[in-house]
Amino acid sequence: MTAAAPTTATFDSLDPATGEVVGTHPVHDAAHVAGVVDRARIEASWWEGIGFDGRKERLIAWQKHLVQHMDELVALMHRENGKPYGDAALEVTLAIDHLHWAAGHAEKVLRRRRVSSGLLMANQSASVAYRPFGVVGVIGPWNYPVFTPMGSIAYALAAGNAVVFKPSEYTPGIGEWLARSFLEAVGRPVLQVVTGFGETGGALCASGVGKIAFTGSPGTARRVMAACAETLTPVLMEAGGKDAMIVDEDADLTAAADATIWGAAANAGQTCAGVERVYVHERVYDRFLDELTEQAKGLAAEPGGQLGPITMPSQIDIIRRHIDHAIACGGRAVVGGPDAVGDRFVQPTVLVDVPDSCPAVTEETFGPTVTVTKVRDMQEAVAKANGTTYGLGSTVFGKARAVETAQQLRAGMTAINGVLSFAGVPSLPFGGIGESGFGRIHGPDGLKEFTYTHAIARQRFKPALALTTFRRTAKDEERAGKLVAALYGREGREGRRKGR
Ligand code: NAD
Repeated sequence: MTAAAPTTATFDSLDPATGEVVGTHPVHDAAHVAGVVDRARIEASWWEGIGFDGRKERLIAWQKHLVQHMDELVALMHRENGKPYGDAALEVTLAIDHLHWAAGHAEKVLRRRRVSSGLLMANQSASVAYRPFGVVGVIGPWNYPVFTPMGSIAYALAAGNAVVFKPSEYTPGIGEWLARSFLEAVGRPVLQVVTGFGETGGALCASGVGKIAFTGSPGTARRVMAACAETLTPVLMEAGGKDAMIVDEDADLTAAADATIWGAAANAGQTCAGVERVYVHERVYDRFLDELTEQAKGLAAEPGGQLGPITMPSQIDIIRRHIDHAIACGGRAVVGGPDAVGDRFVQPTVLVDVPDSCPAVTEETFGPTVTVTKVRDMQEAVAKANGTTYGLGSTVFGKARAVETAQQLRAGMTAINGVLSFAGVPSLPFGGIGESGFGRIHGPDGLKEFTYTHAIARQRFKPALALTTFRRTAKDEERAGKLVAALYGREGREGRRKGR
């Protein structure tokens, strides 16, 4: 084990509602990160060695520890991230549910299983297993500082890896809390934390870990991928979104409006898969907008309110720019508007008549804002919903055509008659396409994401036709040709006769 180099530089995490210092944390440099990864390698071999049962037992111990200390974690999340207590508690609850699922399903999904060896290789016994990389590096964002990284951490641990977690510089205390709680529950630092800014994350990318699971903005995703390319370190990319909701003419409009405003404004709109655009069938557009306006007017972003502050101060300028630009392009704010943007808090804002080319429609806003657009039919709704470079989540409200509409959406996930429901179902994979990234957390795919596939072909008896040997004869080759023609040729000829 390499001794971790002393680190002297520090940084503060701040309460976004007040600007008060919540905690002071080290800025870990590359030498420190390398030391932590070395230690993680030792933990990884112990962790893999205790097998699925041993890991499950310890992950369940951690899960119980999290439940017992949930209030402490929720209070820290409220201070460091700014989100209301209830939202923080919901986030932790969902993370615990995922941890439970990952611990309970890892063996079933990943253990070695027999597969058919096929007719040509009938003398072989074939099997596949999904094995841990060793150490996985997790780089996280601040917006869901527990739920989001746990989507990688819990699944990577359950798959048999040790984890080195680099939390966002806005929520380092929450990351440290998670690693400390794991140590208290399990007794070994299989989950460790390094803190700092982009450079610390970059050092983790270059440290030789088996895989990097990144969650953050598409711009940083590109830098992480470029850094990982140097060492051919595989990456999982969970990036941003510009998610759309579609409301059909037969939708429950009260429920759709409720889902819209919650999906748009919960967590002060700082949700990767939050609702940022709504496309509504023209027959119900006015009624939907009335309903949405009514519901949105009752909400306020304020200390102790249902909406917290904007966690990252620089986001305020982006939100302001999107609203101002939308209004300048002929859009209207039916709730909120330019005045909704304060120094730390942004009030819910509903924008209508915003042209498709405006940043409020094309770029991730990450604030409690939403655009509402009238469409002729579901075809137009799907075309507009799919008309961005992102493809993370999506929502459909309706009855007769809801599933049909959902199936046409270019997105990693779709909720029908609910909002963000896919994120809470542990067996459903979570992730996107395009600018939203690639790879999956959650579910069986999320477990496999933190493994490499190992195939074994075991010879059970000598083959009737030995082809992988220099003792192969011309006669063997002729027999092989006849065999392949008998097995597969006829089907082809019949297919051709039928004009297929
Ligand atoms: P960000 O890209 O600014 O930072 C993410 C993390 O990357 C931080 O820990 C940061 O320190 C680190 N980082 C920065 N530069 C780096 C570098 N060069 N090398 C390695 N690491 C580096 O994102 P953010 O502002 O923390 O998070 C918000 C973004 O995350 C939004 O775009 C949101 O949509 C997205 N997000 C996506 C999901 C998802 O599951 N798809 C979930 C939550 C958030």
